[in-house]
Amino acid sequence: MKRDLLPSRLHTEMTAWRRDIHAHPELGFEEHRTSDFVYNQLKSFGIEAHRGIGKTGVVGVLKAGTSNRTVGLRADMDALPIQEANSFAWKSQNAGKMHACGHDGHTTMLLGAARALAETRNFDGTVHFIFQPAEEGIGGARAMIDDGLFRRFPCEALFGMHNRPGLALGKFNVKAGPMMAGGAFFDIDITGKGAHGARPETSVDPVLVAAHLATALQSIVARNVRPVETAVLSVTQIHAGDAYNVIPQTARLSGTARAFSNEVMDMMGRNVARLAESIAAGFGAKAGTDWRATFPPLINDAKAADFAAMVCNEIVGEENVRRDPPLIMASEDFAFMLNEIPGCYINIGNGDGEGACEVHNPAYDFNDAALPYGASFFVKLVEKRLSK
Ligand SMILES: [Zn+2]
Ligand SMILES: [Zn+2]
Repeated sequence: MKRDLLPSRLHTEMTAWRRDIHAHPELGFEEHRTSDFVYNQLKSFGIEAHRGIGKTGVVGVLKAGTSNRTVGLRADMDALPIQEANSFAWKSQNAGKMHACGHDGHTTMLLGAARALAETRNFDGTVHFIFQPAEEGIGGARAMIDDGLFRRFPCEALFGMHNRPGLALGKFNVKAGPMMAGGAFFDIDITGKGAHGARPETSVDPVLVAAHLATALQSIVARNVRPVETAVLSVTQIHAGDAYNVIPQTARLSGTARAFSNEVMDMMGRNVARLAESIAAGFGAKAGTDWRATFPPLINDAKAADFAAMVCNEIVGEENVRRDPPLIMASEDFAFMLNEIPGCYINIGNGDGEGACEVHNPAYDFNDAALPYGASFFVKLVEKRLSK
């Protein structure tokens, strides 16, 4: 295979960084050691660095030449509340915490690219290296944006990557348009009228309302979503009652929804609330819906995707870059940033032998052999995007 990778001394150095970060995992918004490490490394490369953006977020700014063109590159830094099952030397030293999603590798690849670009400066413009906290569902991207990320560090386009176990080393997946699902959680509180279990005529039974509603909610995907679109709506909890002979006063029904467009997500939110209200009303009860969008769908800009694919082609050859990978039902915090700035998120192979263990598994480890591919992607992307 090709090819155009970074010098091996940088690979050795990145491997050491990656294992150091892996051994010291920190949960979202608690990445103090990790952000210290990133900040100090950036400074040591001669890169202007800013910290405390979105609590523990760090941004590096590297300028070369005179052009006012900009590009943003993003990595995530947080670990998961998982007890690591590995026994290698760099295993987690923090009980109950683990880099089980490879964010140690993502941070390292972006740091490696920062180092290489600071040395060669073979571009004309400004690169913003964005190290975000709290990707795993607790709002790190939002926190950085709310802290003025893109006002302070404007980006014309944004790029990021996630490792993919099962995808061979040296391969990339690059998809234009929707790539990962948006998600929402919902709670529906139904209020009826409690009564003796033997005297239903004096009650408004919230259990019956919940049962009808759980069935009716399935009509949203079946009847309101275009058949060629992908959406899921699952009722995952129904809670009501404490006794055999009491019709309870209230019932609660909760669940999750996923889809690949903001329109479908919004429609599902509206229709869940409408069905809840109207079905409850039909039985003489009341229902209130709390719909909480957790992540927007991740949607790649078509031009940015073509650009990212072209960069990948140069690194590993066209035959190793898949342009039509399947949709991913999981969500990704980077979607919030792509809602603000057009860009592209890609997948990098973590290996199909060693490196194939799924993310969020206690035996997972980021594959250090992937480091030069990811770092080279970022370097080449900057050199092409901000070409002299
Ligand atoms: Zn994860
Ligand atoms: Zn992840």
